[in-house]
Amino acid sequence: MERCHLVNEILTFQRALPSAGFALKLTGEPFASDTELSRVQTLEGYEILDSAAEKAYDDIARLAAYICGTPISVISFIDHSRQWIKSRFSSGVFAEKMLSLPRNTALCDIALLQPEQLILVPDMLQDPRFAGDSLILGPAKLRFCGAMPLVSPGGAVLGLLSVMDRRSRTLSGDQTSALETLGRQVMELLEMRRTVIGLSMANARLGQQNLTDALTGVPNRRAYDQKLAEEISRTRRTGTALSLLIVDVDMFKQYNDTFGHPAGDTALQSVARVLLSSLRPYDFLARYGGEEFAIILPSTDIADALVVAERVRRLVADSEFPHRKFTVSVGVARLAADGDHKALVQAADNGLYRAKTSGRNKVVVGSSEMRVQ
Ligand code: GH3
Ligand code: MG
Ligand code: MG
Repeated sequence: MERCHLVNEILTFQRALPSAGFALKLTGEPFASDTELSRVQTLEGYEILDSAAEKAYDDIARLAAYICGTPISVISFIDHSRQWIKSRFSSGVFAEKMLSLPRNTALCDIALLQPEQLILVPDMLQDPRFAGDSLILGPAKLRFCGAMPLVSPGGAVLGLLSVMDRRSRTLSGDQTSALETLGRQVMELLEMRRTVIGLSMANARLGQQNLTDALTGVPNRRAYDQKLAEEISRTRRTGTALSLLIVDVDMFKQYNDTFGHPAGDTALQSVARVLLSSLRPYDFLARYGGEEFAIILPSTDIADALVVAERVRRLVADSEFPHRKFTVSVGVARLAADGDHKALVQAADNGLYRAKTSGRNKVVVGSSEMRVQ
Protein backbone atom coordinates (compact mmCIF):
# COMPACT_ATOMS: atom_id res chain seq x y z
CA MET A 1 0.00 0.00 0.00
CA GLU A 2 1.36 3.32 -1.01
CA ARG A 3 1.91 5.69 1.86
CA CYS A 4 0.75 9.19 1.51
CA HIS A 5 1.27 12.43 3.21
CA LEU A 6 -0.92 12.61 6.31
CA VAL A 7 -2.69 15.89 6.65
CA ASN A 8 -4.28 17.31 9.72
CA GLU A 9 -6.92 19.76 8.74
CA ILE A 10 -9.95 21.56 9.95
CA LEU A 11 -13.01 20.45 8.13
CA THR A 12 -16.05 22.60 7.84
CA PHE A 13 -18.99 21.48 5.84
CA GLN A 14 -22.19 22.62 4.35
CA ARG A 15 -24.82 20.51 5.96
CA ALA A 16 -26.03 17.82 3.62
CA LEU A 17 -29.67 16.85 3.75
CA PRO A 18 -30.19 14.59 6.75
CA SER A 19 -30.15 10.94 5.82
CA ALA A 20 -33.51 9.26 6.17
CA GLY A 21 -34.57 7.00 8.98
CA PHE A 22 -32.62 8.36 11.93
CA ALA A 23 -34.08 10.15 14.87
CA LEU A 24 -31.04 12.01 16.11
CA LYS A 25 -30.42 14.89 13.75
CA LEU A 26 -28.97 18.30 14.14
CA THR A 27 -31.81 20.61 13.35
CA GLY A 28 -30.05 23.86 12.65
CA GLU A 29 -30.75 25.21 16.13
CA PRO A 30 -27.62 25.53 18.29
CA PHE A 31 -28.07 22.02 19.66
CA ALA A 32 -30.62 19.39 18.78
CA SER A 33 -30.92 18.23 22.37
CA ASP A 34 -29.38 18.48 25.82
CA THR A 35 -27.72 15.13 25.13
CA GLU A 36 -26.03 16.56 22.04
CA LEU A 37 -24.97 19.65 23.99
CA SER A 38 -23.43 17.58 26.76
CA ARG A 39 -21.79 15.25 24.22
CA VAL A 40 -20.09 18.21 22.50
CA GLN A 41 -19.09 19.65 25.88
CA THR A 42 -17.50 16.34 26.82
CA LEU A 43 -15.63 16.32 23.50
CA GLU A 44 -14.42 19.88 24.07
CA GLY A 45 -13.09 18.81 27.48
CA TYR A 46 -10.44 16.73 25.70
CA GLU A 47 -9.18 19.79 23.78
CA ILE A 48 -8.57 17.55 20.78
CA LEU A 49 -10.49 19.60 18.19
CA ASP A 50 -8.14 21.63 15.98
CA SER A 51 -5.14 20.17 17.78
CA ALA A 52 -1.88 19.60 15.92
CA ALA A 53 -1.01 16.30 14.28
CA GLU A 54 0.33 13.70 16.69
CA LYS A 55 2.34 10.67 15.75
CA ALA A 56 0.55 8.39 18.22
CA TYR A 57 -2.79 8.95 16.44
CA ASP A 58 -1.19 8.75 12.98
CA ASP A 59 0.35 5.40 13.93
CA ILE A 60 -3.00 3.99 15.00
CA ALA A 61 -4.65 5.15 11.76
CA ARG A 62 -1.88 3.56 9.71
CA LEU A 63 -2.05 0.35 11.71
CA ALA A 64 -5.86 0.15 11.30
CA ALA A 65 -5.57 0.44 7.51
CA TYR A 66 -2.73 -2.06 7.43
CA ILE A 67 -4.44 -4.69 9.59
CA CYS A 68 -7.80 -4.32 7.87
CA GLY A 69 -6.21 -4.16 4.42
CA THR A 70 -8.12 -1.03 3.47
CA PRO A 71 -6.73 1.88 1.45
CA ILE A 72 -8.03 4.44 3.88
CA SER A 73 -8.36 4.91 7.61
CA VAL A 74 -9.54 7.95 9.54
CA ILE A 75 -9.67 9.06 13.16
CA SER A 76 -12.38 11.69 13.27
CA PHE A 77 -14.20 13.61 15.98
CA ILE A 78 -17.86 14.50 15.68
CA ASP A 79 -18.12 18.17 16.54
CA HIS A 80 -21.39 20.10 16.60
CA SER A 81 -21.38 21.05 12.92
CA ARG A 82 -18.34 19.36 11.44
CA GLN A 83 -16.46 16.11 11.53
CA TRP A 84 -12.89 16.99 12.30
CA ILE A 85 -10.14 14.64 11.22
CA LYS A 86 -7.37 14.17 13.73
CA SER A 87 -5.48 11.65 11.69
CA ARG A 88 -5.83 10.03 8.28
CA PHE A 89 -4.05 7.36 6.40
CA SER A 90 -4.81 6.92 2.76
CA SER A 91 -3.18 5.51 -0.30
CA GLY A 92 -2.38 7.92 -3.13
CA VAL A 93 -5.57 7.33 -5.03
CA PHE A 94 -7.70 8.70 -2.21
CA ALA A 95 -5.28 11.31 -0.98
CA GLU A 96 -6.49 14.12 -3.18
CA LYS A 97 -10.06 12.99 -3.55
CA MET A 98 -11.05 12.36 0.02
CA LEU A 99 -10.08 15.49 1.80
CA SER A 100 -12.99 15.70 4.13
CA LEU A 101 -15.70 13.84 6.00
CA PRO A 102 -19.13 15.36 6.31
CA ARG A 103 -20.87 15.73 9.66
CA ASN A 104 -24.27 14.57 8.53
CA THR A 105 -23.40 11.11 7.33
CA ALA A 106 -25.37 8.02 8.26
CA LEU A 107 -22.15 6.77 9.86
CA CYS A 108 -22.21 9.52 12.50
CA ASP A 109 -25.90 8.85 13.11
CA ILE A 110 -25.36 5.15 13.63
CA ALA A 111 -22.44 5.74 15.99
CA LEU A 112 -24.49 8.23 18.01
CA LEU A 113 -27.39 5.80 18.29
CA GLN A 114 -25.39 2.60 18.88
CA PRO A 115 -22.14 3.66 20.50
CA GLU A 116 -21.46 0.22 21.93
CA GLN A 117 -21.23 -1.54 18.57
CA LEU A 118 -18.59 -1.69 15.90
CA ILE A 119 -20.23 -0.57 12.66
CA LEU A 120 -19.71 -2.80 9.66
CA VAL A 121 -21.27 -1.80 6.34
CA PRO A 122 -20.09 -4.15 3.55
CA ASP A 123 -21.70 -2.05 0.82
CA MET A 124 -23.04 1.39 1.56
CA LEU A 125 -24.54 1.55 -1.91
CA GLN A 126 -26.86 -1.33 -1.04
CA ASP A 127 -27.68 -0.06 2.45
CA PRO A 128 -30.84 2.12 2.59
CA ARG A 129 -29.48 3.98 5.60
CA PHE A 130 -26.80 5.45 3.34
CA ALA A 131 -29.14 6.44 0.52
CA GLY A 132 -27.90 9.77 -0.82
CA ASP A 133 -25.04 9.80 1.69
CA SER A 134 -22.11 12.00 0.76
CA LEU A 135 -19.63 9.22 1.60
CA ILE A 136 -20.90 7.34 -1.45
CA LEU A 137 -21.71 10.34 -3.57
CA GLY A 138 -18.45 12.15 -2.76
CA PRO A 139 -15.45 12.04 -5.05
CA ALA A 140 -13.98 8.98 -3.29
CA LYS A 141 -17.14 6.93 -4.06
CA LEU A 142 -16.72 4.72 -1.02
CA ARG A 143 -18.55 1.43 -0.73
CA PHE A 144 -17.21 -0.30 2.36
CA CYS A 145 -16.97 1.12 5.84
CA GLY A 146 -15.97 -0.36 9.19
CA ALA A 147 -16.00 2.01 12.14
CA MET A 148 -15.36 1.75 15.85
CA PRO A 149 -17.14 4.50 17.82
CA LEU A 150 -14.83 6.34 20.21
CA VAL A 151 -16.81 6.52 23.43
CA SER A 152 -15.85 8.40 26.60
CA PRO A 153 -15.99 6.59 29.97
CA GLY A 154 -19.24 8.47 30.60
CA GLY A 155 -20.79 7.09 27.41
CA ALA A 156 -20.47 10.14 25.15
CA VAL A 157 -19.70 9.37 21.49
CA LEU A 158 -16.68 11.50 20.63
CA GLY A 159 -15.75 10.23 17.22
CA LEU A 160 -14.85 7.27 15.07
CA LEU A 161 -11.93 5.15 14.05
CA SER A 162 -12.96 4.16 10.52
CA VAL A 163 -11.51 2.01 7.79
CA MET A 164 -12.94 2.47 4.29
CA ASP A 165 -12.68 1.05 0.81
CA ARG A 166 -13.96 1.84 -2.65
CA ARG A 167 -15.07 -1.71 -3.16
CA SER A 168 -17.63 -3.75 -1.33
CA ARG A 169 -16.04 -6.07 1.23
CA THR A 170 -16.03 -7.05 4.88
CA LEU A 171 -13.64 -7.68 7.78
CA SER A 172 -12.56 -10.99 9.27
CA GLY A 173 -13.15 -11.74 12.93
CA ASP A 174 -9.51 -10.94 13.71
CA GLN A 175 -9.63 -7.66 11.80
CA THR A 176 -12.84 -6.69 13.61
CA SER A 177 -11.36 -7.34 17.00
CA ALA A 178 -8.14 -5.51 16.03
CA LEU A 179 -10.20 -2.47 15.01
CA GLU A 180 -12.01 -2.59 18.37
CA THR A 181 -8.65 -2.79 20.17
CA LEU A 182 -7.24 0.15 18.20
CA GLY A 183 -10.38 2.17 18.98
CA ARG A 184 -9.77 1.51 22.68
CA GLN A 185 -6.15 2.64 22.18
CA VAL A 186 -7.38 5.95 20.78
CA MET A 187 -9.56 6.33 23.88
CA GLU A 188 -6.53 5.58 26.09
CA LEU A 189 -4.66 8.39 24.32
CA LEU A 190 -7.61 10.70 24.84
CA GLU A 191 -7.89 9.87 28.53
CA MET A 192 -4.17 10.54 28.96
CA ARG A 193 -4.72 13.86 27.27
CA ARG A 194 -7.51 14.71 29.70
CA THR A 195 -5.32 13.75 32.66
CA VAL A 196 -2.60 16.08 31.42
CA ILE A 197 -5.14 18.90 30.98
CA GLY A 198 -6.42 18.28 34.51
CA LEU A 199 -2.88 18.34 35.90
CA SER A 200 -1.95 21.54 34.16
CA MET A 201 -5.14 23.17 35.40
CA ALA A 202 -4.38 22.00 38.94
CA ASN A 203 -0.88 23.43 38.54
CA ALA A 204 -2.25 26.77 37.44
CA ARG A 205 -4.63 26.77 40.43
CA LEU A 206 -1.74 25.91 42.73
CA GLY A 207 0.31 28.75 41.27
CA GLN A 208 -2.59 31.07 41.98
CA GLN A 209 -2.95 29.73 45.52
CA ASN A 210 0.75 30.31 46.10
CA LEU A 211 0.21 33.99 45.44
CA THR A 212 -3.02 34.46 47.39
CA ASP A 213 -3.49 34.94 51.11
CA ALA A 214 -5.80 32.17 52.28
CA LEU A 215 -7.58 34.24 54.93
CA THR A 216 -8.31 37.49 53.11
CA GLY A 217 -8.11 36.40 49.47
CA VAL A 218 -5.81 39.30 48.59
CA PRO A 219 -2.29 38.77 47.17
CA ASN A 220 0.15 37.44 49.75
CA ARG A 221 3.66 38.42 50.73
CA ARG A 222 5.21 36.43 47.90
CA ALA A 223 2.99 38.16 45.33
CA TYR A 224 3.88 41.50 46.93
CA ASP A 225 7.62 40.77 46.65
CA GLN A 226 7.21 39.92 42.95
CA LYS A 227 5.07 42.94 42.22
CA LEU A 228 7.36 45.35 44.07
CA ALA A 229 10.42 44.03 42.21
CA GLU A 230 8.58 44.45 38.89
CA GLU A 231 7.41 47.96 39.73
CA ILE A 232 10.84 49.05 40.92
CA SER A 233 12.46 47.98 37.66
CA ARG A 234 9.67 49.60 35.66
CA THR A 235 10.15 52.81 37.60
CA ARG A 236 13.86 52.70 36.87
CA ARG A 237 13.14 52.19 33.16
CA THR A 238 10.46 54.80 32.75
CA GLY A 239 11.62 57.38 35.30
CA THR A 240 8.15 57.56 36.87
CA ALA A 241 7.47 57.69 40.61
CA LEU A 242 6.67 54.71 42.84
CA SER A 243 5.24 54.88 46.34
CA LEU A 244 4.51 52.36 49.04
CA LEU A 245 2.08 52.33 51.96
CA ILE A 246 2.34 50.02 54.94
CA VAL A 247 -0.95 49.81 56.76
CA ASP A 248 -1.13 48.36 60.28
CA VAL A 249 -4.37 47.74 62.15
CA ASP A 250 -4.33 49.58 65.47
CA MET A 251 -4.68 47.69 68.75
CA PHE A 252 -5.53 44.46 67.03
CA LYS A 253 -4.15 42.24 69.77
CA GLN A 254 -6.68 43.75 72.14
CA TYR A 255 -9.48 42.89 69.69
CA ASN A 256 -8.30 39.28 69.52
CA ASP A 257 -7.97 39.08 73.29
CA THR A 258 -11.46 40.47 73.80
CA PHE A 259 -13.47 38.80 71.05
CA GLY A 260 -11.39 35.76 70.22
CA HIS A 261 -9.22 34.74 67.30
CA PRO A 262 -12.05 33.70 64.95
CA ALA A 263 -13.64 37.14 65.35
CA GLY A 264 -10.19 38.62 64.68
CA ASP A 265 -9.97 36.60 61.46
CA THR A 266 -13.34 37.89 60.29
CA ALA A 267 -12.34 41.44 61.14
CA LEU A 268 -9.13 41.09 59.10
CA GLN A 269 -11.17 39.92 56.12
CA SER A 270 -13.40 42.97 56.46
CA VAL A 271 -10.41 45.30 56.76
CA ALA A 272 -8.95 43.80 53.55
CA ARG A 273 -12.25 44.42 51.75
CA VAL A 274 -12.40 48.01 52.93
CA LEU A 275 -8.80 48.62 51.89
CA LEU A 276 -9.47 47.16 48.45
CA SER A 277 -12.50 49.35 47.95
CA SER A 278 -10.47 52.48 48.67
CA LEU A 279 -7.88 51.85 45.94
CA ARG A 280 -7.50 52.77 42.28
CA PRO A 281 -7.53 49.88 39.79
CA TYR A 282 -3.77 49.89 39.31
CA ASP A 283 -2.89 50.06 43.02
CA PHE A 284 -1.77 46.74 44.45
CA LEU A 285 -2.90 45.56 47.87
CA ALA A 286 -1.21 42.61 49.60
CA ARG A 287 -1.28 41.12 53.06
CA TYR A 288 2.20 41.86 54.30
CA GLY A 289 1.85 39.65 57.36
CA GLY A 290 -0.28 39.43 60.54
CA GLU A 291 -2.47 42.54 60.72
CA GLU A 292 -0.30 44.49 58.29
CA PHE A 293 -1.04 45.24 54.66
CA ALA A 294 1.17 46.76 51.97
CA ILE A 295 -0.14 48.89 49.14
CA ILE A 296 2.07 49.46 46.10
CA LEU A 297 1.19 52.66 44.23
CA PRO A 298 2.68 52.64 40.71
CA SER A 299 3.29 55.98 38.97
CA THR A 300 2.48 57.83 42.19
CA ASP A 301 4.53 60.59 43.78
CA ILE A 302 4.50 61.34 47.46
CA ALA A 303 1.73 63.97 47.29
CA ASP A 304 -0.66 61.56 45.58
CA ALA A 305 0.45 58.72 47.85
CA LEU A 306 -0.52 60.85 50.84
CA VAL A 307 -3.95 61.40 49.32
CA VAL A 308 -4.46 57.66 48.85
CA ALA A 309 -3.14 56.89 52.35
CA GLU A 310 -5.45 59.45 53.92
CA ARG A 311 -8.42 58.04 51.98
CA VAL A 312 -7.55 54.54 53.20
CA ARG A 313 -7.20 55.68 56.80
CA ARG A 314 -10.45 57.62 56.78
CA LEU A 315 -12.45 54.87 55.07
CA VAL A 316 -11.39 52.29 57.67
CA ALA A 317 -12.13 54.69 60.52
CA ASP A 318 -15.59 55.41 59.07
CA SER A 319 -16.48 51.78 58.39
CA GLU A 320 -18.51 49.54 60.65
CA PHE A 321 -17.01 46.24 61.77
CA PRO A 322 -18.39 43.53 64.06
CA HIS A 323 -18.09 44.42 67.79
CA ARG A 324 -16.21 47.69 67.45
CA LYS A 325 -14.67 50.30 65.17
CA PHE A 326 -11.16 49.94 63.78
CA THR A 327 -8.46 52.37 62.87
CA VAL A 328 -5.24 51.93 60.96
CA SER A 329 -1.87 53.65 61.00
CA VAL A 330 -0.14 54.18 57.67
CA GLY A 331 3.53 54.65 56.81
CA VAL A 332 4.15 56.27 53.42
CA ALA A 333 7.34 56.34 51.34
CA ARG A 334 8.45 57.07 47.81
CA LEU A 335 11.23 55.19 46.07
CA ALA A 336 14.26 57.47 46.16
CA ALA A 337 16.27 58.05 42.97
CA ASP A 338 19.21 56.13 44.42
CA GLY A 339 17.15 53.94 46.76
CA ASP A 340 16.44 50.25 46.52
CA HIS A 341 13.69 47.94 47.65
CA LYS A 342 15.10 47.71 51.18
CA ALA A 343 15.37 51.46 51.61
CA LEU A 344 11.79 51.95 50.37
CA VAL A 345 10.36 49.45 52.86
CA GLN A 346 12.54 50.84 55.64
CA ALA A 347 11.24 54.34 54.93
CA ALA A 348 7.58 53.24 54.94
CA ASP A 349 8.22 51.28 58.15
CA ASN A 350 9.75 54.32 59.79
CA GLY A 351 6.69 56.36 58.83
CA LEU A 352 4.47 53.67 60.33
CA TYR A 353 6.47 53.69 63.53
CA ARG A 354 6.03 57.43 63.84
CA ALA A 355 2.31 57.09 63.17
CA LYS A 356 2.04 54.59 66.02
CA THR A 357 4.12 56.50 68.50
CA SER A 358 2.31 59.75 67.76
CA GLY A 359 -1.10 58.36 68.67
CA ARG A 360 -2.23 55.86 65.90
CA ASN A 361 -4.99 56.39 63.29
CA LYS A 362 -2.45 58.54 61.45
CA VAL A 363 -0.64 58.82 58.12
CA VAL A 364 3.08 59.67 58.30
CA VAL A 365 5.62 59.97 55.49
CA GLY A 366 8.83 58.18 56.41
CA SER A 367 12.36 58.38 55.13
CA SER A 368 15.13 55.84 55.31
CA GLU A 369 17.23 58.31 57.29
CA MET A 370 14.66 58.53 60.09
CA ARG A 371 15.87 57.15 63.34
CA VAL A 372 13.72 54.56 64.97
CA GLN A 373 14.41 54.16 68.69
P1 GH3 B 1 -0.51 48.29 67.36
O1 GH3 B 1 -1.59 49.29 67.35
O2 GH3 B 1 0.71 48.79 68.04
O3 GH3 B 1 -0.24 47.75 66.01
O4 GH3 B 1 -1.04 47.10 68.27
P2 GH3 B 1 -1.50 45.68 67.81
O5 GH3 B 1 -2.17 45.02 68.96
O6 GH3 B 1 -2.27 45.77 66.56
O7 GH3 B 1 -0.11 45.02 67.46
P3 GH3 B 1 0.59 43.73 67.99
O8 GH3 B 1 1.76 43.53 67.10
O9 GH3 B 1 0.84 43.81 69.45
O10 GH3 B 1 -0.46 42.58 67.75
C1 GH3 B 1 -0.84 42.16 66.52
C2 GH3 B 1 -1.88 41.12 66.70
O11 GH3 B 1 -2.40 40.69 65.46
C3 GH3 B 1 -1.36 39.92 67.42
C4 GH3 B 1 -1.76 38.77 66.56
O12 GH3 B 1 -2.32 37.72 67.29
C5 GH3 B 1 -2.80 39.35 65.64
N1 GH3 B 1 -2.84 38.65 64.40
C6 GH3 B 1 -1.89 38.56 63.45
N2 GH3 B 1 -2.32 37.79 62.44
C7 GH3 B 1 -3.57 37.40 62.73
C8 GH3 B 1 -4.55 36.56 62.08
O13 GH3 B 1 -4.34 36.04 60.99
N3 GH3 B 1 -5.74 36.39 62.72
C9 GH3 B 1 -6.00 36.95 63.90
N4 GH3 B 1 -7.19 36.73 64.46
N5 GH3 B 1 -5.11 37.68 64.53
C10 GH3 B 1 -3.91 37.93 63.96
MG1 MG C 1 1.70 44.93 63.40
MG1 MG D 1 -1.23 46.46 64.81
